[in-house]
Amino acid sequence: MARIGLVAHDDKKDEMVAWALANLDKLSLHELWGTGTTGGRVMAATGLPVTLLKSGPLGGDQQLGALIAEGRLDMLVFFIDPLSAQPHDVDVKALTRLATLYDVLCAFNKPTADAVLAVV
Ligand code: PGA
Repeated sequence: MARIGLVAHDDKKDEMVAWALANLDKLSLHELWGTGTTGGRVMAATGLPVTLLKSGPLGGDQQLGALIAEGRLDMLVFFIDPLSAQPHDVDVKALTRLATLYDVLCAFNKPTADAVLAVV
């Protein structure tokens, strides 16, 4: 069982929900964490339990980073919107930095998320 963090920027949330539904069986084997809105939408769409953190712009990205720093997350699925400025851009950078620093499996788009989910 892997501990997986889920986060998607607003224009990527539909994509995250579609990805979660397409991978429902595999995701049901794992422990899921999510930023507030992303995690809530995944939970509502799939029926899978997701431990909800704060919304990303309100500290949820930082909470995911803290989980990573504490060794409590194995994989991060982070659907970043590359076409929109984010008010919490510094938090996004901090999260991706910690995920890199701690060698967490990272997926920033759907094909990579599929590939990574196949090996956890
Ligand atoms: P959200 O946070 O899931 O609460 O919208 C995502 C984000 O960091 O933008």
